[in-house]
Parts: sequence; C-alpha cells; structure tokens
Amino acid sequence: MAIVHTLGFPRIGAKRELKKALESFWKGDISAADLEQAGQRLREQHWRLQADAGLDYVSVGDFSYYDQVLDMTALAGAIPARYGFCGGSVDLQTYFAMARGSASAPAMEMTKWFDTNYHYIVPEFEAGMTFRVSTSKLVEESREALRLGFAPKPVLIGPLTFLWLGKERGGDGSFSRLQLLPGLLDVYAHVLRELKALGVAWVQLDEPALAVDLPAPWLAAFKSAYTALSKEAPNVLVATYFGSVADHAPLLRELPVAGVHLDLVRAPGQLEAFLTKLPPERVLSCGVVDGRNIWRTDLRRALELLQQVRAQTDNVWVGPSCSLMHTPVDIDLESKLDVELKSWLAFAKQKLRELAILGRGLEHDGREAIIDDLQLSDTVQRSREQSTRIHDAAVQTRLRDLRADDARRSTTFAARQRVQRERLRLPAFPTTTIGSFPQTPAIRDARAKFKKGELAPSAYEQAMQREIEHAVREQESLGLDVLVHGEAERNDMVEYFGEQLAGFAFTSNGWVQSYGSRYVKPPIIFGDVSRPAAMTVRWSTFAQSLTRKPMKGMLTGPVTILQWSFVRDDQPRAATATQIALAIRDEVQDLERAGIRIIQIDEPAFREGLPLKRADWPAYIDWAARAFRIASSAVDDATQVHTHMCYSEFNDIFEVLALLDADVITIESSRSGMELLDAFKKFRYPNEIGPGVYDIHSPRIPTEHEMLALLEKAADYLTADQLWVNPDCGLKTRRWEEVTPALRNMVDAARRMRDRVPVA
Ligand code: GLN
Ligand code: ZN
Repeated sequence: MAIVHTLGFPRIGAKRELKKALESFWKGDISAADLEQAGQRLREQHWRLQADAGLDYVSVGDFSYYDQVLDMTALAGAIPARYGFCGGSVDLQTYFAMARGSASAPAMEMTKWFDTNYHYIVPEFEAGMTFRVSTSKLVEESREALRLGFAPKPVLIGPLTFLWLGKERGGDGSFSRLQLLPGLLDVYAHVLRELKALGVAWVQLDEPALAVDLPAPWLAAFKSAYTALSKEAPNVLVATYFGSVADHAPLLRELPVAGVHLDLVRAPGQLEAFLTKLPPERVLSCGVVDGRNIWRTDLRRALELLQQVRAQTDNVWVGPSCSLMHTPVDIDLESKLDVELKSWLAFAKQKLRELAILGRGLEHDGREAIIDDLQLSDTVQRSREQSTRIHDAAVQTRLRDLRADDARRSTTFAARQRVQRERLRLPAFPTTTIGSFPQTPAIRDARAKFKKGELAPSAYEQAMQREIEHAVREQESLGLDVLVHGEAERNDMVEYFGEQLAGFAFTSNGWVQSYGSRYVKPPIIFGDVSRPAAMTVRWSTFAQSLTRKPMKGMLTGPVTILQWSFVRDDQPRAATATQIALAIRDEVQDLERAGIRIIQIDEPAFREGLPLKRADWPAYIDWAARAFRIASSAVDDATQVHTHMCYSEFNDIFEVLALLDADVITIESSRSGMELLDAFKKFRYPNEIGPGVYDIHSPRIPTEHEMLALLEKAADYLTADQLWVNPDCGLKTRRWEEVTPALRNMVDAARRMRDRVPVA
C-alpha cells in the first residue's frame, strides 16, 4: 500500500490566524502563553485536516512562529553573539530579536528561499563555532501530535542545506562553513535519537540544495553526513524539490537512508534516473501534486506516473512536489470567485484530498475505486482546455505575428540619446525618484473606503488627484528634474495592473507567507492576457498637466507581473510573459501618444526569476529580456525608456542589463556603498544609469555629503554623462518628513557634482 504524506502545510491559518496572534504579541496585547496557544490550535487544525483527508502521516515541524530556517538556527544554538544568548534554551524574545532586530542588535539578514517568494532568515556561521541543542520545539511538537493521536513525521532542514543557506561571518576568508558540518551533525543526531525514543517512525530531512549547482566538496559531504545520521535515527526520508536531482542519482542511491523524495512536477524527467537500480527497500516518494501552484491536479496523468513507478517498486509514496506552504490554504473560502474558475483550483486543503485519492488509486483495483474522481478531474482538464475564458484568439494571433523587430528599438542607443537630449534638455546628473511617494494614512484610508463603496469613484479620483498635485508641487520646489506622479492610486505594483488586465483573477483569502507575519495574495493568471483599456494614462496626463518638467509614466514590467503571480501551467511561462508584454506595450504606446516623454517599466523581480541551475539561465534570460523589449520597444527614438531594479547582486547578470536596452536604468546600490560598480570594471555598461544614492529602507536622512561621496565613487566607474541621481527604490514606505529633506540633500549633491565634474 502506498503511503500518502505531505512535505509541509501552510502554517498561517486559513484566516491568517498566525499573523493576528503574532502581531498582537509583538504589540504586547497578548502574552507568550496566548501566542503559544494560538500556535497549538493551528497545528492541531492542520494535523486534523491531514489525517481527515486520509494521509498516513502528519507533518510536524513545518509550523513556525517566523521561519523554519530560523527554527533550525535556534535548534542548533547558532545564535549570533550580538543577541547576548548565553546558553540554555532560546526564548521567544531572542528568537524574535534575530528575526526582527532589537533595540541593541539589528535583525539577521533575510533572503529568498530558492526561487520562491518566501524569505528565510539567513544563518550566520563563524569559524570555530560550536552547536548545541537549544530548543525542544520539534520534539515537543512531535509529542503533542502523538498525544492527539496523530502519526507524526517530523521535518527538519537537512544539515547540508542548512549550512548552504547560511553565510560566513568574520574570519580571513579561508574559513568555509562546510567545516562546521561535524559539530552540526552531533546536534542532528541528538534530536533524531530523541525522536526515535518517542516512537517516531519517519523523519523528513529537506535537502533542496541538491537542486542547485552544489560545489563538489558539498556533494561529497552527503555520504558521510547521512551515514553518521542514520545510525540511531528513525527512518530518514531525504526530500529534494524545486528542480531535478537526476545528476545526483548515484549519490542518492548510495546514501544510507530509507527514502528519497523527488519533485516530479518541476522535473518529471528525473524519474527515469531513479527507477532503475533502486535498492529494493528504498522508498521513492513521488511529488506529483504541485506545491507551488493553485491548479487542480490532472489526476489521471498523475496516477499513470505513479503506476509507472509502482511497476518498478512496491515502496512508492505519494506527496506534493514540495511543502504546500507556497499555496493558499482553502479554496472553499473563496465565495466571490467565478464558479468556473474556482472549479479549476485546488489550494492546500484540496491538495491533501488529491493526494489521498491518488494513494487510493494505487491500491489493488484502485482505478475503479476512484473512477468518479478521475472523471471529475478529466472534466476539469477539458473545461480548462476549451474555455473561452482562457483562450482569446486575438491574443494568440498577435503572439504568432510577432516579428524580431517588435523586440528591439529601431535605432541604436547613441542615436536615441541624441534626440532625447535635444528634446528633454536635462542638466548633467539629472535627478529623479523611482516612482512612489509616501502612502500616507489618508491615502490608505481613501482607498479602503473606495473599495468598500463608502467613497464615490469621483471623490476617490479627486482625493488621488490632490495627492498627485501635492507630490508634483513638492518635487518642483525641491528642484528635481524628472518628476513622478507618486503612485498614490496604487495598492501594489502587480495587483494594480492585474486588476485591469484580462486573464487575471483575484482571491479574497489566497494568502501565502512572504516572511514572518507578512503575507501576499498573488493574482492568478488563468487565461490569455490582454488590456481592455488604458490603465495609467489618465493619471499620468493629469500629472503632466501640472508641470512643464517631464513626468515619467510608470508601469510594472512583464517579468515582474509574471513572477509575482500564480501562473498558468498549461503553457510555458515564456508565452505568458510575452502576452503580458504585449499588454504593457499597448499602454506604453498610449502614454507616448498622450505626450508622456519618459516611460519607466519596473522589473524588480527580473533577477529572482533566474533558474536555480546555471545551465537554465540562458533560456530564461533570452525570453525574459525579450519580453521586456517587446513591452518597451514600440516607441519613437525621442521617448526615453527607463527601467528599475531594486537589488544590487548584478555580478552574474550584468550583460542582461544591457540586453534590456532601456535608455536609463535605476538600481539599488547605496547600502552596499556602490559595491555593485565593481562589475563595471569588467563590463562597460553602455546606456545611462542611476545607481541609488539614498537608502530608502531606513528612516535615516542621508546627508548631502554622503550622497556626494557615493556619486563621486560612481563617477570613477561610469562616465559623467551616463550618470543619473536617484534613491535606491520607491518612497512609499517612508514619511514625507523623511523624504523631503533627504531629496533636498540629494538634489544639492547633484548640483555639487555638476560644479565639480565637467561633462563633455
Ligand atoms: N515604481 C515603484 C515604486 O517606486 C517601484 C517599486 C519596486 O521597485 N519594487 O514604488
Ligand atoms: Zn525598487
């Protein structure tokens, strides 16, 4: 009989219970005991859902008050010295200080969990560091599950992935965190022994690092690590996900573990490598239900795949591709969603049911037993294939008719630069901002009322116009050269466009955790994308009517819209990106026609779209850059295209920036002290560029002096006539009291540059 399990379940609660409890605790409104009680309730609910659905084990350890990597850091006692931890057990105060910072110590760094939009807290490793079991959370929660009558399968981040995800601190550069492995293994061994003593049958050790390009010494460490761990442990299931581990099939075959999990949604092709020469006792857990997306599983196809495995081995497990934490909790709560669309979707709770059905289907005569489910699944698949809601012939034709010329400007950058300078007449070191100005309580309030129907559309429009006018006056009096309208009317840079595009849907409760108590509600791209009407033109033209200075039109780029949405799984991501690009292209042309001379297309998610394996980068870069160029290339030479990206790890992909061929790119760089500019030593960026000089993540107001220093540094790497002067990112999270003086200093710094550095 096949075992059915999940690699993890969303911890946030169907109604965001965890967020509410956490934030109340942080505010001091509830006690630690209250918070723990809320946690316990959620765990129990989630286990019950899993057991009721028919899963053989419930997942334990996927619950966390903040982040599962931070939980592992706490478990191993890998607490950075600045938090003053002096042994014993890590308490909530220390735990949250690491996550969020405290009065005396800044928070630990946060970064994206592989290629998801979930952020984890980056472990910090130092030479000579020792580890000691410092929390009993996992053991306690396993005990809790047992007490409630569930069969727990505890999950931990595997030791190699844990080290891989961390960063080395201090030292002379000769230290590698991999050297810490032996000490770390003692901690794991200790915990695994305890779990075994409890009577736990299986533990899941997550090693998604196997899906990235792991250096040889790291791969070599697996064998000895798992040999050491398996000795006194319950059965170990090594879970891989987010990509193929086919290259490591020999390694995984040799590991002395009881089972291996494969992500067969992302990488179905890897199955082959595992089907042969598998030790007979070895469990093969097949991830056939998509843990990263919200579509119902094609049960017939999934069952066929499972049966293919079953023909080779009796030890088949059925699971989702990865933890279900990347999907929302329950589609049943979506009462406003179109019924047809809803019938195509499965959130975490529904996916549990799919897993159980597939498990049943694998039994003797199983196909008969689940015949109704298979038929229903077929109906869903057919309905998606044929729905007029999804398929728009006009969009398809446009896609087919795209020519190479549609994805490039008609002349070279040099030629465009000449006419743009003629037309815009900007000073050297032109100053601008990235787009948004403070989203004040008044703005939020107006939007909330408007959405609830308490504020008439015309009144909302007027309120937003007043905000725009205020932003324009401020910028004029500050003496900025290229103005923005401030984005007061936008809640979120993807949602705002998604709501106006065909092919997008929005849920009311479809939250997934981004980090800590921050959740996002990604739009669902379910069908061919098109733009029924202009989206931003009236705001931009209104803003332009208030000033003689150039007003930037402000759009979100196709790659970012794709990246921050749940996307169709019935066509390649590239095709969906191209459709969005065409819709943005229409908007760009409308803005140009309306007299907007500069158009910015933001692509903050461009880099995070890079595949996990380098071998897959060229294909991604190719279609993603093309999508950007399709969106941006339909304009005259004289129209200046800007783009913006808010991060500075460009070393790997600097050439990509040039491939986009935007006339101006603004990027984050102040926090790293212009470190990113090192890349320019090797690679001469051809177009204009504004490396951010004002760190907008901090309330601190940078001085003219420090921004001038950054600009001078930038001028060492770039020519004076390439450089723009701007903040790192949008200012929506700041207050005007911070923004106004900071921008005044920034404008002064630019003026000082003009005096100092002669421009050819
Ligand atoms: N134009 C957007 C803003 O200023 C860009 C946001 C972003 O880069 N994430 O808010
Ligand atoms: Zn940004």
